[in-house]
Amino acid sequence: MARLLVLEDERTLARHIQATLQRSGYAVDVVDTVAGGRHALGAATYDLLVLDRQLPDGDGLLLLDFARQSKLAIPVLFLTARSSLDDRVGALNRVADDYLCKPFEGAELVARVAALLRRPREVVVSTVEAGNIVLDKATHSAMVGGKPLMIARRESMLLEQLVCRSGQVVTREILDAKLFGFDDSASSNAIEASVYRLRTALGNLGADRQIHTVRGIGYCLAP
Ligand code: CA
Repeated sequence: MARLLVLEDERTLARHIQATLQRSGYAVDVVDTVAGGRHALGAATYDLLVLDRQLPDGDGLLLLDFARQSKLAIPVLFLTARSSLDDRVGALNRVADDYLCKPFEGAELVARVAALLRRPREVVVSTVEAGNIVLDKATHSAMVGGKPLMIARRESMLLEQLVCRSGQVVTREILDAKLFGFDDSASSNAIEASVYRLRTALGNLGADRQIHTVRGIGYCLAP
């Protein structure tokens, strides 16, 4: 049986959500604060989170951040007022997460929950690692040895290509297509400049993988 954690501080709504999901055969725990949610995530294993946004002690997104930092690959269904549909919700990992605007029908809630639970777990995991480099493909952020890597968007895309094919040669043609698309004209200097900046940033944080140049072909991330 799938176990769900619901974070919702409106008592009546929380009870309604719990009853609806229980009728569909799910085990449902309810908490009404972000702190309570953190505690629950530490104490039990959940298959899905249903998160309200506005809570007494902060934004429900805080619990999503907490879950992702703990590398918990839990899909999330957000409950949101249409007006609070901000940029961050738009930028969610579309594979892992979904949202439902209040007010909603019980049947709609059950359908969304079932759809999220059907999605394969491996797709939900958005982080990839190479040595002490950890990249979150959903947020395009990266850490080296636990420290945040501050790089521009293009270098972040470059890093993703290299980390996802760690130990293999990534050709200039692939980088050209991924980093610059069809509209931008990418001179080879532009790729080299990005590689140089990324190399420097990785080196500064003590990365245990380096970008090796494979002359005439491309680049390879390796020890
Ligand atoms: Ca609320």
